[in-house]
Amino acid sequence: MPVLDATEANVARDAVLSGWVSQGPQVLAFEQEFAALVGAPYACAVSNCTTALHLALLAVGIQPGDEVITASHSFIASANSIRYCGATPVFVDIDPATYNLDPDRVAEAITERTRAILAVHQMGMPCDLPALTALAKRHGIVLIEDAACAAGSQININGTWDAIGKPHGEIACFSFHPRKVITTGEGGMLTTASADFAQKFKLSRQHGMSVPDTVRHGSPQVIFEDYLSVGFNYRMTDMQAAIGRKQLERLPDIILRRRPLAARYADLLGNIEGLILPFEPKWARSNWQSYCVRLPDRVDQKAVMQSLLDQGIATRRGIMCAHREAPYRDEPLRHSLKESEHAQDHAILLPIYAQMTDDDLVRVADAVRAEING
Ligand SMILES: *Cc1c(COP(=O)(O)O)cnc(C)c1O
Repeated sequence: MPVLDATEANVARDAVLSGWVSQGPQVLAFEQEFAALVGAPYACAVSNCTTALHLALLAVGIQPGDEVITASHSFIASANSIRYCGATPVFVDIDPATYNLDPDRVAEAITERTRAILAVHQMGMPCDLPALTALAKRHGIVLIEDAACAAGSQININGTWDAIGKPHGEIACFSFHPRKVITTGEGGMLTTASADFAQKFKLSRQHGMSVPDTVRHGSPQVIFEDYLSVGFNYRMTDMQAAIGRKQLERLPDIILRRRPLAARYADLLGNIEGLILPFEPKWARSNWQSYCVRLPDRVDQKAVMQSLLDQGIATRRGIMCAHREAPYRDEPLRHSLKESEHAQDHAILLPIYAQMTDDDLVRVADAVRAEING
């Protein structure tokens, strides 16, 4: 449930009445504020995270014949973005504790065709960036972060807490879909330390156009633009960016509210026999975009979800596995995805949103306990 009110409605209205509704000054300001918030030299706003992932992979030169290692256990857009480039997603299993890529398995999956690792911070839990960046460096390949769910998450690197999005890998990609902790309806953001990549993103998101329309409109001289490459229309609108700027102001408070909710769930659910709670490594601070619990094997996932729904408690199934869906199903698997499949089949996502009260949490926990204890 997104945190949105009249504040966002009013700035969207202002953007409409400003006369500039497509990508313009609000987008530029949103980018600057996002970059400052995460500590990245460059940020580029786009239409959603799927298009951000596509631009990221193109910028680092992913092309047909290349392999990109990623998690099957992710929203299907992670794998699809690799396919958009004509490259092959090579699926690697997750660490069952964190639901994130297991660096040892990534290491085993690297071949002479591997050009990149696309690592997901699943459900907002930071993945093991130090291990993955070291691995990428050792093999001369790039690391791209699918940080769709991870706005506001942090990772401790050498004793300091960094925001996810501060460049650790080459590029990080964020989503502002309403399922994430902050939203612009639809929206995405890329961050990077590379001026060259940032330039590529800005060209590619608007048709490869050499002179942005904002510059053309502001110029006293007549300017003709050129089209330097086959680009895309991946732009964010100024209405969305205006909303995004307000959401960014709220982000610290949203996280301050979500973290105690997760801690309280851990208290309430901690003594249920066979229920496995989320694991937050010492070096990670999740934004708790989702609260994922793993049911005991003997319990039927769908039956539990249905029974909770009958009581007015909406849950979601564990994260999907792309390799089980039609576009990927027929590809031979190179590596075991047992942990990914087990997570999809036995995990459920409990409701967690900033507006939740303690009574709500207790009610959910009691209902889950009753289901498991039969
Ligand atoms: C939501 C999500 C995406 C896609 O984000 P959109 O903004 O909806 O395109 C990609 N990857 C992961 C891991 C996600 O959770």
